Amino acid sequence: MIQRLAIIGIGLIGSSIARVAREKQLAASIVCADRSQAHCTEALALGIVDAASTDPADAVAGADLVIICTPIGTYGAIAKAIAPALAPGAIVSDVGSVKQAAILALQPHLPAHVHLIPGHPVAGTEHSGPGAGFATLFDGRWCILTPLPDTNAEALTRLEAFWQGAGSNLATMTAEHHDRVLAITSHLPHLIAYTIVGTAADLEDQLQAEVIQYSAGGFRDFTRIAGSDPVMWRDVFLNNRDAVLEMLGRLHEDIALMQRAIRIGDGQTLQDLFTRTRAIRRGVLAAKQA
Ligand code: NAP
Repeated sequence: MIQRLAIIGIGLIGSSIARVAREKQLAASIVCADRSQAHCTEALALGIVDAASTDPADAVAGADLVIICTPIGTYGAIAKAIAPALAPGAIVSDVGSVKQAAILALQPHLPAHVHLIPGHPVAGTEHSGPGAGFATLFDGRWCILTPLPDTNAEALTRLEAFWQGAGSNLATMTAEHHDRVLAITSHLPHLIAYTIVGTAADLEDQLQAEVIQYSAGGFRDFTRIAGSDPVMWRDVFLNNRDAVLEMLGRLHEDIALMQRAIRIGDGQTLQDLFTRTRAIRRGVLAAKQA
């Protein structure tokens, strides 16, 4: 069991961790820090933390597990602020959607006497803030840890046990591999959704109104993803540039093939692709990740 869990950023992911830690008794005490006093007050009112502060150094003092749950762009300043207050032997982890950039931002500031083990629960919604979290968010979802070559084995086991207690399936891989996989499974789909909804937003007024009225035709599924937090996603694209650009290049090529198939009336090419993609959807359902 964790004695003192410190969560930096009590939004969707941070508050979900607090809720599940509370419910499953994964930590004896739970404290949080958030730059927003209103979020600190809300977390206390929800009863999901024992103490809350706008100063991250306050929250991490005496903590044996610190989980950073803020947008990636904030990591450097947070690591700098908490470094002097971190207890020897503490595990410092995070939930950021990009891992190489997370390590680059955190590692230089952290003292040698703590264990940095980056993580990413592959679970979320398009909502933000302490009220958006829920205790079952991680249930049956994957949590990917990207330990460093010299990560302490005992610390890794403790962090794995924490996430297992939260209901997650655990995987470990290198940060580089994580960033390539997530570029295609998460980052590119968000980019496509943001773009297509942006395209619709630029249509002339009459057409735009009809897009919303008839959105059940498929568009609404894109609007859900495109309703995700703007700051978080800005930071994802700025911090996973190479992998996203590589996958975007492949997508451009494949869209050109579709464009050609439609232009020349090549129904076989269209049907072949749609048959393969249907099988992938069935695989997602079978893996209970739908
Ligand atoms: P969120 O709901 O907006 O929560 C982030 C919280 O951190 C907010 O309360 C925010 O306050 C606060 N914050 C921002 N900058 C801060 C700073 N410098 N110091 C202290 N607190 C600060 O976002 P989220 O969806 O939980 O995402 C948090 C992290 O989880 C991101 O790194 C993201 O990549 C990762 N993640 C997200 C998802 C998802 O689906 N949403 C899934 C997996 C991983 P303000 O509201 O005032 O900015």
